[in-house]
Amino acid sequence: GRSRAMDHLKALIRDVPDFPTKGILFKDITTLLKDADAFGEVIDRMASRYVDDEIDLVAAIESRGFIFGAPLAYELGLGFVPVRKLGKLPAETIEQEYTLEYGSNHLEMHVDAVQPGQRVLIVDDLLATGGTAKATAQLVERLGGIVHGFAFMVELTFLNGRSRLEGYDVFTLIQY
Ligand code: AMP
Repeated sequence: GRSRAMDHLKALIRDVPDFPTKGILFKDITTLLKDADAFGEVIDRMASRYVDDEIDLVAAIESRGFIFGAPLAYELGLGFVPVRKLGKLPAETIEQEYTLEYGSNHLEMHVDAVQPGQRVLIVDDLLATGGTAKATAQLVERLGGIVHGFAFMVELTFLNGRSRLEGYDVFTLIQY
């Protein structure tokens, strides 16, 4: 199956217990990113999933989402939109509150980042509870955009993030 085929990528992701707080098993992807073949394979596999789709923009979530979203947008020939933590974007923004595995926060997008009717692919490194991704979908939809789907390198299936994203197309490369 697919999870078996991705074992060589899985082997490059490092488990860090109790980071950033006690009880969280952090999936450290920096050990995969520094491997040129592995990083390239992840981007290529993501791109091939969407190459025939009608998409206008890739929106990626600060900060590890940028690592995957920017090369994916480039490979698909699409524009890139940053979704950022509060206070980082310089022009007029809309904001959305969200909760994550370890805390709560706000995300922001520029109000002119997405035009009504544009199809947006949302990208992040890892799907945990789905709170971050859901908030990003809400931002895109509040701007009149259409969420084409979500792409993540890693999915922590035991946290049921997919159920929070019900009704959307969700693609993940590596599952735990
Ligand atoms: P969530 O909103 O719960 O789906 O959390 C997803 C976001 O938090 C992603 O941007 C991840 O980078 C980060 N994250 C959450 N849990 C973990 C974890 N166990 N290991 C690494 N990153 C995580």
